[in-house]
Amino acid sequence: MSLFGRLKQLIHQKSEAMRFYPVRVRCDRCGEILETRVNLHNDLSARYDERGRVQGYFVRKVLHGSGRTRCFVAVEVELEFNARRELVSRRAHGGTFVDEFAPSSS
Ligand SMILES: [Zn+2]
Repeated sequence: MSLFGRLKQLIHQKSEAMRFYPVRVRCDRCGEILETRVNLHNDLSARYDERGRVQGYFVRKVLHGSGRTRCFVAVEVELEFNARRELVSRRAHGGTFVDEFAPSSS
C-alpha cells in the first residue's frame, strides 16, 4: 500500500474510534458481559439550555443477554455527554460497568 493509502487508512481508523463509544457491562444477575457501542453521531439526543444552545447529549441503550446463561434480564444503560460529545456521566440499571471511565475535565 502506498504511503498515502496507509495515511488515509490511519485517519479513517482514528475517526472511527472517535465516532463510537464502547459500552461494556456485567449483568448483575448472571455475570454475563454485555457489549454494545454508541454511535456518537447518530445515537445521541441533544439537550438544550433555555437559550436553545446545545448543552450536552444523552443516550439510553437496553442490552440483552445472549440467552446462553438462561438469564433474560435487560440491562439499561444511560450515558451523558457534554456539548463536545465527551462522556461526563453514566448509569447502568441491572448491571455494572466493567471498563475504565475517566470523566473528561470541564
Ligand atoms: Zn444476566
